[in-house]
Amino acid sequence: MNAVREIGRRNAIRGGLALAASLALPSIARTQTSARVVVIGGGFGGAACARALKQFDAKLQVTLVEPNKVFTACPFSNEVIAGLRDIGAQQFGYEKIAAAGIDVVANAAAKVDPQVHRVTLADGSTLSYDRLVLAPGIEVRFDALSGYDEAASRKMPHAWQAGEQTLLLRRQIESMDDGGVVAIAVPANPLRCPPAPYERASLIAYYLKQHKPRSKVLILDAKDNFSQQRLFEKAWHEIYDGMIERISLSDGGRATAVDPATNTIVTEFGDHVAQVANVIPPQRAGRIAQVAGAADKTGWCPIDPMTFASKLLPDVHVIGDACLGGGIPKSAAAASAQGRACARAIVNGLAGKAPETPRLTGICYDTVAPGYAFSLAGLYQPKDDMFAEIEGGGTSALDAPREVRAREAEAAQSWYRTITEETFG
Ligand SMILES: Cc1cc2nc3c(=O)[nH]c(=O)nc-3n(C[C@H](O)[C@H](O)[C@H](O)COP(=O)(O)OP(=O)(O)OC[C@H]3O[C@@H](n4cnc5c(N)ncnc54)[C@H](O)[C@@H]3O)c2cc1C
Repeated sequence: MNAVREIGRRNAIRGGLALAASLALPSIARTQTSARVVVIGGGFGGAACARALKQFDAKLQVTLVEPNKVFTACPFSNEVIAGLRDIGAQQFGYEKIAAAGIDVVANAAAKVDPQVHRVTLADGSTLSYDRLVLAPGIEVRFDALSGYDEAASRKMPHAWQAGEQTLLLRRQIESMDDGGVVAIAVPANPLRCPPAPYERASLIAYYLKQHKPRSKVLILDAKDNFSQQRLFEKAWHEIYDGMIERISLSDGGRATAVDPATNTIVTEFGDHVAQVANVIPPQRAGRIAQVAGAADKTGWCPIDPMTFASKLLPDVHVIGDACLGGGIPKSAAAASAQGRACARAIVNGLAGKAPETPRLTGICYDTVAPGYAFSLAGLYQPKDDMFAEIEGGGTSALDAPREVRAREAEAAQSWYRTITEETFG
């Protein structure tokens, strides 16, 4: 039995599981023809899928379409914001993927014609496919929060797609006065990486405690409860007592509008003027998924969890943050595991074999300070046409000693090295 296990850091729905694909597959299926598989999006899901396709069947013609020559990863980007890490540690090129025999096309997909199995790129050129994998991640919605558009995001960064936005938020925090407030507006579920706003609040508080100790972090939350809440709140009390304030949905924390001119976040119960306003708006599947017609009215893409096949388009699969997978988390570890499971399903399908049941297992880490992290683990499998958690996650004990937190912080770092190596080579 081929059992692949990996470690992740986040969970989307129940609070913090990152996933690994574990598939029973006695032998790797072989296709009879050199079928063409196009993968759109070279992030955690798409890059892992493209590599696995080629590993499972070297004869496949695999093309990876990704506009950026360098990928900037979100996991650990909160450490960049807190000045604990260089952005370079988040960046990965596609050379090793290309060296594995995958055709890497540095362009954006602009259109998909599912009837004739063709993708049109931004420069007008086209790619034909037998199977298409959509892995475009998320689109930050600029139509969901009054006043928050792309121009506003240059004043009030979301930093929910890593890169320039991450660095902008970092610079703003670095240059604010001591005694200022950093406000973080958090949307309701579903969102990419649900625990990440609270990790971000923690790590920003860590920076402020060292450099601007009279400052505060204010979380304006569109939710009442959040992933790993008791562990976070205990850590905040222990390490940052009084520095982090959270206003929940019931207490009027949901942001309803913003005013970038005054750095104001408007909530149901009042206006909050911040020195630094980190506005994380609602999200949906990456735009190409909407353009292709793979997304439904939720904004996300419904799939068959056995194969990741789109329920709306033939011969199209959707993986990663863009898909609607029930309990499956919108996390890098989940996306990467889904990429491999989807590659198996495609190779089996092309060979006329029945799909194998994907089993996605993993562990999620949340870092609240250097040397202080906790985790949650679980196992997911298709159930009732969705992914469901079939075994409860082992979470870190609330009263675990500091040595355990320190070990989990080390494990989190090693998880990142492993997943980025597995995904980008
Ligand atoms: C602050 C933060 C911290 C996080 N921490 C963790 C963590 O600790 N652990 C964890 O597991 N997850 C974490 N995540 C979540 C993780 O980053 C995402 O879940 C993961 O990146 C999803 O992978 P994906 O492949 O679906 O999308 P991405 O990794 O975003 O990849 C999508 C790719 O598609 C490309 N693309 C988009 N449109 C097109 C197009 N039209 N044509 C071609 N290419 C296109 C994009 O350029 C991008 O490269 C975090 C997220 C955030 C915001």
